Amino acid sequence: MSKINLLDFTLPELGEYFASINEQKFRAVQVYRWMHIYGADNFEAMTDIAKTLRAKLNEVAEIRVPILVSENKASDGVVKWALEVDNHNKIETVFIPDNDRGTLCVSSQVGCALECQFCSTGRQGFNRNLTPGEIVGQLWWANKRLGRDPKGEKLITNVVMMGMGEPLANYTSVVAAMKTMLDDNAYNLSKKKLTLSTSGVIPALDRLKDDCPVALAVSLHASNDAVRDVIIPINKKYPIKELLEACRRYLAKSPKDYVTFEYVMLEGVNDKLEHAHELVELARDISCKFNLIPFNPFPNSGFNSSSRNQIVRFQKILQEGGYITTVRKTRGEDIDAACGQLVGKVKDKTKRQEKWNTRSFGVIKQI
Ligand code: SAH
Ligand code: SF4
Repeated sequence: MSKINLLDFTLPELGEYFASINEQKFRAVQVYRWMHIYGADNFEAMTDIAKTLRAKLNEVAEIRVPILVSENKASDGVVKWALEVDNHNKIETVFIPDNDRGTLCVSSQVGCALECQFCSTGRQGFNRNLTPGEIVGQLWWANKRLGRDPKGEKLITNVVMMGMGEPLANYTSVVAAMKTMLDDNAYNLSKKKLTLSTSGVIPALDRLKDDCPVALAVSLHASNDAVRDVIIPINKKYPIKELLEACRRYLAKSPKDYVTFEYVMLEGVNDKLEHAHELVELARDISCKFNLIPFNPFPNSGFNSSSRNQIVRFQKILQEGGYITTVRKTRGEDIDAACGQLVGKVKDKTKRQEKWNTRSFGVIKQI
């Protein structure tokens, strides 16, 4: 029987587990701090814990971090790690340094089942959800590999749930992992510096605002349902109007007073100036910012990024409409670490790749 992985637990859960093995709860705090603050992956390292307890824990539990299989550094300082989460599957995690902040982009699933057409992860197919320990394990490894800056501060100041997978499709594990990221006996992130990005799984978004409200980014990517239905199939289930309603409900509990709308710029698909005008009207009653993302290409994607000029024209319309609108810098390009390029190694259970290989993109281009 495999041992319990203590990395899967939030602090209250670890306390309950300790109670269940007749140990005091304050011991759970010590062990939790050892794992997450000091990066311990074994009980021997925990020198202020009695040897008898360490031996007992060794019998029933373990601290199982994913296996680090590769580390790639880009010329702009971006670092990408591939982590093996079982014999068949690998996920990717990316660190993006930027002036006074360091952002870690964390994966939530092996692949993704949502099939957004412009996303390399979506094209890979889906294998399984990550466990809380596999999600937190990415932050654990990144901290370990990066070390601290000369002042002794941690280099990771922000975490974005924007790696492989749809975090709200793996709700329970993602919320557990985020609680550990926020805990001051662990990674001590502030709620404003932990961002969850979703393509819009409305029921889960409604739960999140009560269970673990963090900063919210929504992958909008279209100004009307006709376009969004095609490029983000989940829009057929949760259309734009309902998604915006859910964003308004979320804002009532959010640590930030705005939602970030992400908008990937796809040439000839969603980047016409009329689309920008449509967005200005669409988002009128909601406190939001826009982040325009140049499309990051991958083989056989069937899409091109909008030109620089077109992105600037689009941005100007949104700005004149009253919205703070930024254009995301593309980082880590030389190691395929940019948004939507993460692929890891997914043993697809959905036969998605076969389907994509035979699909035609003519329809998308005509929108
Ligand atoms: N599943 C979540 C989070 C992971 S994707 C979501 O969809 O929001 C993180 C971001 O990268 C999303 O905004 C996604 O739409 C965007 N993205 C996906 N593929 C991309 C690509 N090829 N180029 C640029 N951005 C992309
Ligand atoms: Fe999944 Fe997000 Fe990619 Fe869509 S964009 S396929 S939801 S990871």
